[in-house]
Amino acid sequence: MDAWMTLKEKKSESELLAGLIGEADAVVVGIGAGMSAADGFTYVGERFKNNFPDFIEKYNWFDMLQASLYKFPTWEEYWAFQSRFIVLNYLDQPRGEAYTALKEMIEKKPYHVITTNADNAFYAAGYNMDKVLYYQGEYALMQCSRFCHDKTYRDDDLIRRMAEEQQDMKIPSELVPHCPKCSAPLEKNKRTAEKGMVEDAKFIAERDAYNAFLKDHQKGKVMYLEIGVGHTTPQFIKHPFWRQTRQNEDALFVTMNQKTYRILEAIKSQAVFLTDDIQKTILNACKN
Ligand SMILES: [Zn+2]
Repeated sequence: MDAWMTLKEKKSESELLAGLIGEADAVVVGIGAGMSAADGFTYVGERFKNNFPDFIEKYNWFDMLQASLYKFPTWEEYWAFQSRFIVLNYLDQPRGEAYTALKEMIEKKPYHVITTNADNAFYAAGYNMDKVLYYQGEYALMQCSRFCHDKTYRDDDLIRRMAEEQQDMKIPSELVPHCPKCSAPLEKNKRTAEKGMVEDAKFIAERDAYNAFLKDHQKGKVMYLEIGVGHTTPQFIKHPFWRQTRQNEDALFVTMNQKTYRILEAIKSQAVFLTDDIQKTILNACKN
């Protein structure tokens, strides 16, 4: 912690963020749902209500992410919901301001991103996608629902047709996509607790690139910057970041979250908590 000059002065959160990124040798960024929510890509409230009034009336859901994990009774209904969800959260996702500002700050440094989000925010903000690992899948990709082979498929036109041609929360049966190998219906490529997800060659190459980056930056002033990461899946970002911080006395774990979470005692002295509004802090830091 002594290595970080920025921490020796009292600064606002945005000055801290800008200063720490500025003096870091490398930045490992972990992004969770809170970052997308900060840019307005929320899963609750108006955005959900306006796009899914029929499903909400039928099922009384209040959270779009939770709804997307529902075990729908038919594939026609599954794809009616998912196609609209994918158009909203991937195909037509606009550029986020905080995502863009963050990119401008970190791209001057060696950096790599890991995210548990499956939306399209990084692409929309113009990131170099070779530096982004989508650990939990991507909404626009499809996989065999029986996991019979390790390949994913993408067909944006089909997804849009499903969204447009559905009636009464069902797509026409002939639009349900099927696995070319075993004929089982295709489903979204999204990791779930009980099934995991199909990991194709591209995913494995991206995971290898991320791990290689971590290996190359085990010493020096490495900043593990966690933004909007909650506690639902700490095994992917939070806990590995803690472990890596602990193994390098010059490393810093910086967490941006409006809720404060319990932290491992052993790295308390290497941790910085930023609890102000995520979007405002990043936008102000970028101006510094
Ligand atoms: Zn199959």
